[in-house]
Amino acid sequence: MDFRSTLFQFFLPPQCPCCEKFLEEDQQGFCSNCLSEIRWIEPPFCSICGIPFISKEVESYPCGACLTHKKYFTMARALGAYEGSLQQAIHHWKYEGKMNLTPFFAEWMAEGLKRYWKPDSFDFLIPVPLHIQRLRERGFNQTLLLVKELSRRSGIPYQKTILQKKKLTIPQVNLSGIEREKGLRGAFRLIEIEELEGKCVLLVDDVYTTGATVNECSKVLLSGGTKRVDVLTLAHAIKSSELRARRQEMQTPNCSLMTPNG
Ligand SMILES: [Zn+2]
Ligand SMILES: [Zn+2]
Repeated sequence: MDFRSTLFQFFLPPQCPCCEKFLEEDQQGFCSNCLSEIRWIEPPFCSICGIPFISKEVESYPCGACLTHKKYFTMARALGAYEGSLQQAIHHWKYEGKMNLTPFFAEWMAEGLKRYWKPDSFDFLIPVPLHIQRLRERGFNQTLLLVKELSRRSGIPYQKTILQKKKLTIPQVNLSGIEREKGLRGAFRLIEIEELEGKCVLLVDDVYTTGATVNECSKVLLSGGTKRVDVLTLAHAIKSSELRARRQEMQTPNCSLMTPNG
């Protein structure tokens, strides 16, 4: 951006970083429309993966998927549902390089950190790494930028080199949980392993979809001597998890039909 356009921007009213609508002079951040569209995640939710429960009358407990499928992280929490304006904002940030969104996301992450964990719970923040080829294509690892801002706000140091992605995996959007897991096996490696011994780590990513990526990263981190891994993401793809749960229900034989008395 040259000096003239910087100057021009200076005189423009602030814009919503999500929909780019001009805001009132005294407003900042997301416009009221975009903010109202965000479905913030509130308890009750799965005590492990953090997916919110439909019934609001229950306590938080482990969901079916977490009971049947081992999670290597202790708990994962997300700020909002991956839909509407939050999904759109993450998309702008990740694929269109709208870096002015980073401070807003980091502020929300810092609030989430305070809400779900006691101070001094972590020795390090670690971003989910990008493969070097993706890094070259995109030019930056947006999760690392987020981690840097979160580290500044929380005072927790970050480690950007310990966990590396050594295998280029295909985009995972349309893969099932099991396919994702298979594809991710052996995708990450550790270096400077001695730094991890007995440490508690918060792994940071943008979206929790099936959890396969953060689970594989957690497994690798634990194998290197990490004491505990927790996960914080900006968003949780709830809709796809709900669909998967329903699909799973349909595929699981109904046990009551198999008992002798029907
Ligand atoms: Zn907006
Ligand atoms: Zn769960």
